[in-house]
Amino acid sequence: EVRVRFAPSPTGNLHVGGARTALFNYLFARSKGGKFVLRIEDTDLERSTKKSEEALVNDLTWLGLNWDEGPDVGGDYGPYRQSERNALYKQYAEQLLESGAVYRCFCSSEELEEMKERAKQMQLPPVYMGKWATASEAEIEAELAKGTSYTYRFRVPPEGSLKINDLIRGEVSWNLNTLGDFVIMRSNGQPVYNFCVTVDDATMHISHVIRAEEHLPNTLRQALIYKALGFPMPTFAHVSLILAPDKSKLSKRHGATSVGQFKEMGYLPQAMVNYLALLGWGDGTENEFFSVDELVEKFTLDRVNKSGAVFDSVKLKWMNGLHLRSLPQDELVKIFEDRWKSVGILVDSDGTFAKEATELLKDGIDLIPDADTALSNLLSYPLHTTLTSAEGKPIVQDKLSEVAAGLISAYDSGELLAELDEGHAGWQKWVKSFGKSLKRKGKGLFMPLRVLLTGKVHGPEMGGSISLIYKAGQCGAVNPQSG
Ligand code: GLU
Repeated sequence: EVRVRFAPSPTGNLHVGGARTALFNYLFARSKGGKFVLRIEDTDLERSTKKSEEALVNDLTWLGLNWDEGPDVGGDYGPYRQSERNALYKQYAEQLLESGAVYRCFCSSEELEEMKERAKQMQLPPVYMGKWATASEAEIEAELAKGTSYTYRFRVPPEGSLKINDLIRGEVSWNLNTLGDFVIMRSNGQPVYNFCVTVDDATMHISHVIRAEEHLPNTLRQALIYKALGFPMPTFAHVSLILAPDKSKLSKRHGATSVGQFKEMGYLPQAMVNYLALLGWGDGTENEFFSVDELVEKFTLDRVNKSGAVFDSVKLKWMNGLHLRSLPQDELVKIFEDRWKSVGILVDSDGTFAKEATELLKDGIDLIPDADTALSNLLSYPLHTTLTSAEGKPIVQDKLSEVAAGLISAYDSGELLAELDEGHAGWQKWVKSFGKSLKRKGKGLFMPLRVLLTGKVHGPEMGGSISLIYKAGQCGAVNPQSG
């Protein structure tokens, strides 16, 4: 049976890297009809907080990555918080002591420090060189009798190598001679991270460990512990780093990186999920738009890329637009209507205004809050007679003033409004005769009109825009202060 886990440490927010790891685990579990487990790795009591655990749970839930077993939902292999599993770690540590795979190490920290110095001087790797690996029963008894504190140290074979077949990275092997005997339980009884992870993965019957590449070095110690405990080794899949556009490791200085931030900025969870899936995975075609169900259907680990994936927030935004526009019409109208009401652009509406505005504007909107600017730009007054180019130079100024003068007089005389009463056909009729009177047509007419009315060189269809502006004035749906 496929059983995978997402094992976050509750020491901060869920970042895109963690979210992608969770997603790959989720997709793998769902595609194989397996189980997805959430385990909270809160052994670092100093840095772990309840608040952060709650935020993680909320963000995962928002993304829709629901788990089958975890601290909140329970399951057969709980508890699912490491801080509640100490008895288990202790039990397995004792088992390893019994079998001789670990030994008690009574070295003081001063002695360990000295050893490290000595190794450095001899240009040897900083491995444990103390006597407790080979101490006699009597020597051990004597220290126990004195009450000397001790750690549990894992006996690493001094020679040889260990290899695993990583589903993403292929064969990975390590020489054992530089590892040295490592501690699995501290003298205060606190189990060490790698030991906890191994005991947990083993006792939770995890079949595939899918996690970030940065954990690859831990795999060596974990694999040795697996062997010593006599548990079958899971299959490993180490997913590459997420990089910033400059190819450095993605971090806060590159902008928003936590799931919570994107949620607040108005991103849709399905767009996030789609984009995260593309960070290192693709279905082998050009297609990049996937619903969660499609991802579940298509996802395989052998298509996960070995090299780092670049996080491109521009593309994420574009992708959000695709998902936004693929929502059922009513749903999209409702989203925009609620948004416009909440920011005070719409005061009241029977829904038709919001529906028309949505239809007209949606192509230019990738993110829900962008709908505000799109609508208020359209409805704003006075006319946009001072549009400047990206370089800050005024453009189409002379054309603008001529067309503006005509437009204003048509508006003030009521001529334009009367035609607009007839709807789109009325607009077309008016614009034709307006063009004739100015001896303008095509781009020479529509471009200045568009700029005047919307403040933009590109934008929604003009007839729709003008009728919406007209309706906004007629139906009282729009807050007059908002433009
Ligand atoms: N707790 C680790 C982390 O948050 C994950 C450990 C693992 O997946 O093995 O990075």
